[in-house]
Amino acid sequence: MFKVQGSRYVEPLNEKQMTDYLRETHHEFEAAAEQALADSNLQRILGQLGDTLGQRNRDAFAALPNSSLIRERARAIKDHTLADLHVHLLALERSVLARGGHVHWADDGTSACRAIVEICRRRAAKVVVKSKSMTSEEIHLNHVLEEAGIETVETDLGEYIIQLAGHRPSHIVGPAVHLSAQQIAEILSKPAGERLPAEREVLAGFARKALRQKFAEADVGISGVNFAIAETGSIVLVTNEGNGRLTCALPKCHIAVMGIEKVIPKLADLPYFLKVLARAATGQKLSVYTQLITGPRQPGELDGPDELHLVILDNGRSRILGSPLRESLFCIRCGACLNACPIYRSVGGHSYGGVYAGPIGAVLTPLYDGLAANHHLPHASSLCGACQAACPVKIQIPEMLIKLREQLHDEPGHMSRLESMAYGMWARTLRMPWFYRLGTWLATRTIGRFKRGDPWLKRLPGKLHGWTAKRDFPAPASERFRDWWNSPASREEVRDEP
Ligand code: SF4
Repeated sequence: MFKVQGSRYVEPLNEKQMTDYLRETHHEFEAAAEQALADSNLQRILGQLGDTLGQRNRDAFAALPNSSLIRERARAIKDHTLADLHVHLLALERSVLARGGHVHWADDGTSACRAIVEICRRRAAKVVVKSKSMTSEEIHLNHVLEEAGIETVETDLGEYIIQLAGHRPSHIVGPAVHLSAQQIAEILSKPAGERLPAEREVLAGFARKALRQKFAEADVGISGVNFAIAETGSIVLVTNEGNGRLTCALPKCHIAVMGIEKVIPKLADLPYFLKVLARAATGQKLSVYTQLITGPRQPGELDGPDELHLVILDNGRSRILGSPLRESLFCIRCGACLNACPIYRSVGGHSYGGVYAGPIGAVLTPLYDGLAANHHLPHASSLCGACQAACPVKIQIPEMLIKLREQLHDEPGHMSRLESMAYGMWARTLRMPWFYRLGTWLATRTIGRFKRGDPWLKRLPGKLHGWTAKRDFPAPASERFRDWWNSPASREEVRDEP
C-alpha cells in the first residue's frame, strides 16, 4: 500500500506504517467532523439545506407527471450506455472530429492535465477562464495550470469565492454553500480593495465586474461536460449563471473535460436527463442555461471558439465499470443525495476529505483515490436510504457503501485487534444458539432490569463509549421476546387481539 497525497501515491508503506496511517487518516476524518459539528455558523447553514434545496427537489418531482417513469428511463439509458461504453465513446469521437473538433484520451489526471497544459502553451495562453467542473477539480487542474505559469480564474460565483478563499468545494452544486454572506463579503473585500457589505446584489455585482474583465483577457476557456451526445458530437452544459456561455464562446479556444461516463448515445436521450437534473439539483424545471455546443465556430457563424478540444478522462472509471460498484457511474452530479443525507447535513462537505462529498462522495472518493486511504467514508452513513430516494437515477448508494465495507474487511490492518476479537466472538456466539440464549438472558436480567425505565443507554463503558459519544444505544428489554412468547401472558394478549 502507498500513502496518498491528493490523488498521488507518494511512498510505499510497510504493515506497521500502514496500520498507523489508517489510524491517523481515520482520526483526521473524525477531527474534521468534530470541528464541523462545533461550528455553529456551519451548522446553521447545513440545517437549512434539507428545507431549501431538499424540499425544492421533493416538490419539483411531486409536480412532474410520471416522474418515476422518467427517472427509470434515465437510469436505463445510463445502464445500456455503460454496457457498450466503448462503442458510444468511439462514436462520440467520430462525431466531434467530423465537426472540426479535437479529441484527447486521458488514462488518468496527469495525462489529462498534460494535454490541457500543452494546448494552452501552444496557444501561448496567459489567462484561462473556467466554468464549474467537478472533473477538473478531481484532476487538480487549477493547481497544474498555475504551476505552468498560467493564471486560472474560476467564473462560477461559488467557485470564484472558494478559489479566492483557498477552499475546496463543499457541495457538488453549491461549492461555497458552507460560507455565510458575511464570510463571503470578507473574502471578496480583499480583491475589491474596500469593505463590501454582506448584501447579495453588491457581492454579485463586484464579482460580475471583476470576472467580465477576465473573460475579455482570456486566451482559453475550460468547461466541464454534463452530457456528451455520441450521435451529434454535442457537448451539453447545464448552468444557472451566464459564465458558462462566456467561458465557451469568448476565448478563441475551448477545452471541455469529461469523464468517460458522461456520454449518452442520442439527442433524443437528452430530455430525460434535463428533466431530472435541474429538478434534483435546485428544484427548477429547467436550468437557466442549457447549451449544446457542436464543434468549433463554423464558416458563416458569428461567434464561438476557433478551436474546440474534448478531453475524455478515464482515471479509474473503466476499472469501476467491471466491478459491483458500476452503478456509481450513473451519477449525473446533481447533489440531491447530499441535501437528503443526515450525515452530510451534520458534518458538511469538507469532512469527507475528497473532491466529491456526501453519500456519492463516500463511494466515489474510495474508488478514485483508494479504499484504504479513505476507509472512513463507507462508514460515514447511517444507511437510512434517503440518498437513494432523492437520487434522480435511483442509484443504490447504501448497497454500494455496504459492498465497500465488505471490501474493507479484507484489507489488512483495517481493524484494531480489539475490534477483530469482538467480531470474532460475535460470530462464534451466533454459531452457538445456547450461548446466544445465555447472553440475551444475562442482558435482560442485568441491564434490562436495572435501566430504570429509560429504553436508551446514554453511555457505554470503555472502548464502546465511541458508540454513545454521539447517539444513544438501545437498552436490552427487561424480558426476552422468546420468554414473553412462551409465557401465558402472551397467549392472553394474542387471543385478545381483534
Ligand atoms: S448519486 Fe444521484 S443524487 Fe447523488 S449526485 Fe449522483 S445523481 Fe445526484
